[in-house]
Amino acid sequence: MRRLVDVIVGPDDAGPEGLAQAAAVLLGVERSRITGLDLKRRTIDARQRRVRLNVSLEVWVDEAFVPSTGPYAPSLPTLVGEPEVVIVGSGPAGLFAAWALARRGIRSVILERGADVRGRRPALARLNREGHLDQQTNYCFGEGGAGTFSDGKLYTRATKRGDVGLVLDLLVDVGAPERIRYDARPHIGTNRLPQVVTRFRELLEAAGVVVRFGARFESLLLNGQTVRGVRLADGEVITARAVILATGHSARDVYRSLFKQGVAMTAKGFAAGLRIEHPQALIDGLQYGASAGHRNLGAAPYSLSCTDEAGVGVYSFCMCPGGFIVAAATETDGVVINGMSPHARGSKFANSGLVVSLSPADVGGGVLGGLDYQAALERAAFTAGGGGFRAPAQRVTDFLARRVSADLPTCSYRPGLTSVDLWELLPRRISEPLAAGLRQFEQSMRGYVTAEAVMLGVESRSSSPLRIDRHETTCVSPSHRGLYPCGEGAGFAGGIVSAALDGVRVANALGS
Ligand SMILES: Cc1cc2nc3c(=O)[nH]c(=O)nc-3n(C[C@H](O)[C@H](O)[C@H](O)COP(=O)(O)OP(=O)(O)OC[C@H]3O[C@@H](n4cnc5c(N)ncnc54)[C@H](O)[C@@H]3O)c2cc1C
Repeated sequence: MRRLVDVIVGPDDAGPEGLAQAAAVLLGVERSRITGLDLKRRTIDARQRRVRLNVSLEVWVDEAFVPSTGPYAPSLPTLVGEPEVVIVGSGPAGLFAAWALARRGIRSVILERGADVRGRRPALARLNREGHLDQQTNYCFGEGGAGTFSDGKLYTRATKRGDVGLVLDLLVDVGAPERIRYDARPHIGTNRLPQVVTRFRELLEAAGVVVRFGARFESLLLNGQTVRGVRLADGEVITARAVILATGHSARDVYRSLFKQGVAMTAKGFAAGLRIEHPQALIDGLQYGASAGHRNLGAAPYSLSCTDEAGVGVYSFCMCPGGFIVAAATETDGVVINGMSPHARGSKFANSGLVVSLSPADVGGGVLGGLDYQAALERAAFTAGGGGFRAPAQRVTDFLARRVSADLPTCSYRPGLTSVDLWELLPRRISEPLAAGLRQFEQSMRGYVTAEAVMLGVESRSSSPLRIDRHETTCVSPSHRGLYPCGEGAGFAGGIVSAALDGVRVANALGS
């Protein structure tokens, strides 16, 4: 017999034996009759620092246990004929679009400006060690897109936008840990993501999808207002009956090219600010109290949000427990900060973006105003950092006191830090809400504002500052037939899972 139960346990009992004992008590059976457990959902509840785990389980009683193993997602047919659809970008949106098209028997070619995963590693090493940026292959560009070297958090609020379970199942099939199927806050980790991405690509290629690296989209091939394919930076022309544009929100050259070609786009709100780093042990203590450091809990995350007196939103973004801050720049004169964590989240640092909501009216400059605003922030950070992608930084207590830090704590950001007054770098529209937000965060998480925490900038790419318009159900651009804007760069996603869901959605909307 198999029974579904929900148990609530402390960290000590969150291992397999503790869960089996708790399930036995709940079901009123001898522990020895339980042959196995299949976890369905696992949530850590750390309210009031009294840590409890809520676990939903399928309990196998008196029956030989057969652990669930993949494959979980439907398989792909073998594709024949010439590729009909061009997908620009091999991030989650592009990869999942290719998969969903393949499910429908439609063969596509994915064009990716950067290198494959293997080629990305030396480019990242050079950036971290020598401060040399490869503008085509970096933390944002290359196989798997911006999420390949990240924390790989897979939590999303976009559950109404598609089948999140399908995305997770597919990721497990290509090597992601099984637990992402039941953890309430699943993540893969930067040490495992590259292999997952490579295996995903190999799955697509085995079905007949063509994947090309070092193939940079330059412009649309147009016949009037109808898209006939794409032109690459080296002059090559590739024809197709449809183009799915999934180039992410860092490809500013793509936005500018589309703007020139008259593609319909709209400015939208976005967020910008800084990234903050604390010792992970400090965050563990603030979140988990006496249970801090427990092996069944791991490194503690946090999520903070508030509005200042003027109603401006300030929030933590892409929090990476046990992680590292990385140089996510794509332009040679701009510093951009982001974060990542390995699967075990074992580093001694906890970092998170701290960003302020901005509206198109705040940044001005029309449709491309947000791009210019982001770029100006990044250039100011580069100059203040003193070059080599060193980041301008300040202790959080000094930021609030408006004084330059006499020294800075050890930080995980490899290119290095330069001590500055961040108030001189940031527009008041960002620094003032940020300071107000920090004071409020300290109220809800006592000890968060500490001299041990350092803030560095700039966190300018949390979301796209514009939307490439598309029809709600057909997903076609209203200005250009055959053009399907997709994913985060088109303004329809924010994060790995929502970008993947959008890829599936666009592929399913594309006419046969
Ligand atoms: C360091 C870092 C950490 C992150 N951590 C997380 C996380 O933990 N969880 C999470 O949900 N999200 C995270 N994100 C955000 C997440 O990666 C993105 O939301 C997601 O990847 C967006 O998917 P996408 O497919 O829309 O675009 P992208 O992933 O940006 O992919 C776009 C692709 O298009 C390619 N491209 C761009 N221009 C061209 C061109 N002209 N020609 C050909 N190819 C082109 C790029 O090289 C890129 O591969 C992180 C991002 C970064 C940078």
